[in-house]
Formats: sequence, structure tokens, C-alpha cells
Amino acid sequence: MIEREIAPAVADKVEFYRHSLGEAEKTAMGRVLDTLFLTTGDEVYSFEREFAEYLGVPDVVTVSSCTAALHLSLVGLGVGPGDEVITTAMTFIASATAVVHAGATPVLVDVEAETGNIDPARVEAAITPATKAIVAVHLYGTMVDVRALRDIADRHGLALIEDAAHCVEGVRDGYRPGQLGDVACFSFYATKTLTCGEGGAIAVRDPQLAERLRTIRLHGMSKNAADRYHGRYEHWDMVALGWKANLTNIQAAMLRPQLSKLEARRQRRDEISCMYDSTVDAIDDLSRPLVPGGVVPARHLYTVWIPGDRRDAVLSLLGARGIGTAVNYRAIHELTWMRENLDLRFPLPNAERIGAQTISLPLYDKLTDGEVARVDAVLRQAVEETR
Ligand SMILES: *Cc1c(COP(=O)(O)O)cnc(C)c1O
Repeated sequence: MIEREIAPAVADKVEFYRHSLGEAEKTAMGRVLDTLFLTTGDEVYSFEREFAEYLGVPDVVTVSSCTAALHLSLVGLGVGPGDEVITTAMTFIASATAVVHAGATPVLVDVEAETGNIDPARVEAAITPATKAIVAVHLYGTMVDVRALRDIADRHGLALIEDAAHCVEGVRDGYRPGQLGDVACFSFYATKTLTCGEGGAIAVRDPQLAERLRTIRLHGMSKNAADRYHGRYEHWDMVALGWKANLTNIQAAMLRPQLSKLEARRQRRDEISCMYDSTVDAIDDLSRPLVPGGVVPARHLYTVWIPGDRRDAVLSLLGARGIGTAVNYRAIHELTWMRENLDLRFPLPNAERIGAQTISLPLYDKLTDGEVARVDAVLRQAVEETR
């Protein structure tokens, strides 16, 4: 009965995400297919230069995912067994699993109640003699206070890693991801604002670290296939224990035309976010994360907080009425493996509250004003019905 009522609404579903790739990206990929090198080569090197220029950082090393970017950055910065790495409980699991893969121990600290971002005061309170690094996540695209974290890292001799998977376009007090951290890690996963399906990159300031990362992203080999092809044959060596985490020319070609379109797309997401804001602010019991003054948010995700224990009921009403949603995120220490394997040192009430209340709404530049209005209407109704 109920299913039959729902069917017509689902027919014009508002997808949670739709990418914006088109002719420019198809042409660029086609160009690579007409050449000899499908794997890492000139397209990758060009994208690395262009992305470094876009970010205003000295160098970028591309990799196969943001997870690999985080893992290789930790290894490259000398983090390993016996070391502790402080990170947030309100993030995608990879921010913490990369620490485990590096052989180190993640120490989870709570987030700020207003923003959902890691709290610098709690980071400083969690430092022990074993602490080696901080992994800070620019949640939803709102940059954390990197200046405060840089100051803490410098005073305690720690490495600072920015998980900028949500934040290609963001700015805070005039600085951007990668400009103050030792590294910033990016994701080109299918739903990220700059995408090639799967991929990642590391913004690096130290040239020696960049060289180390280029070696360990490809087996620890001293030369890659393109280097070996150009010029007379010379033996390659294995100079480090590396991984297989390089990006291909096909992926890089897809990424290059997107750089010049990032800002216009961010502006459209900003416009949509402002429309959602008015709806959320007009409904009594809803709230949303704060964007602090001085921040230009990347607007990767739009999340709204449903109070009480009604989140899952609202989620299923939205889904049944054709609105695509996601949950970013349930607090990571509540997931089974993390619960069974991580020792928690601190209470994490803000992360738990956000994890229990949050819903992400559709947010991408292709979303029409009409679709935004539909999301608004269905959300209002769902909140009303679950009250
Ligand atoms: C998407 C995401 C990652 C992982 O990115 P992949 O490219 O899929 O490995 C890491 N951290 C955050 C915060 C993310 O949103």
C-alpha cells in the first residue's frame, strides 16, 4: 500500500550526487588513448604542476587515493610503530586506518560542538612523549584552524597532516590547504568535487619529502616506466620499500580540465547551501554546523542536524520520497572494528552527538533550483511528521 503511494515521487529522484564531467574530460582522455603511455607520465606531471599552482604550494605528488596519500605521507614523515597520531573521531574511517596501516596508534580527540572540526585545545591536551603527528580533517570543506595547529605542532615537534579530501577550494584567513601543514592529502574519489573516479594527491612543501613520496608511491623504484622509456637503458634499483599507489595518465587527463571550473562550481554550491540554510534556520528543531568567520568554505557536503533520536526516521522518509542522502559520518569509534581495536583515551561526546544527528543533503553544481526546493519541501515535511 505504502509502496504504491511512494512510487511516483521516486520517479523524479533527486540524486545525492551527480558528477559534472563532460566533453572536455572525454576529449582529454581520448588524447591519452592515442598515445603510448597509459600509466604515470607527462599528463600526470602536468597535472601535478597545475594543481600545485592552483593550490599555491611548491609541489604535488599524485597517488591512487586519499587513503594512500595519508598512508604514504605518514610513512614519508617517519611515523611508524610505537608512535601516536592524534586525529578526529568525526571523519571518514581512512583518516584513522591510514595511521594503523603505518603501524602507529590513532589517538582520537573530540571535535568542536559548533563546527564538527577537530578541537586544537583537545589536540594539545592529548600530546604525550610518543606523539609524532596530527591528522586534521577539513570536515565538509570548512578548514580547521591550521594556524593554531601549526603552532602546537611546532612547539611539540610534531608533523601536521591535513586531510583535505573535502577541501580543494577552501580558504581560511588567507591561507589554503597545504600551505601551513607539512602535507595536505586530497581525494579524487567519484563524489569529490575534483574527480577521476578514484585518485588522490599530496601537496608537499619539503622537496626531499616530495622525492621520497614519488619513490614509495611506485614500489620504491628509482625510475618509472616513462623514465625508463626515454633515454638509453639503465638498470633501475629498488631503494626503499614502497607501495603501488601511482596515478595514471588517463586519470590525470580527466582531472586537468576541471581545475579552471572549480571556483564557478564552488560558487554554485555556496548558493545552494545558502538556500538550504534558510530552510534549516526556519525549522525550529534543526541546526547545522557553523562556518567560522574568515573561512571561505569549499562546500563539499551540506549537513543538517536532526535532534533527539529521529535522524534515522527522517533519513528513511527522505529516501522513500526520492531524496538521495548520506550520513557523514557516524563517529568512527562506534564502528565495529574501531570499537574492538582502538583504545579510547578521551570522551567523545560532540562527535557522538553529531554522528547520531547528521544527514547530508544533495549538493552539487548541477542541482537545479527546482530540485533544491523539492529537497526543502520533503525535509520540512519529514521533520514535521517525526516530531
Ligand atoms: C573520501 C575521504 C577519504 C578517502 O579518500 P579516498 O580517495 O576514497 O581514499 C579520506 N578522508 C576523508 C575525510 C574523505 O572524505
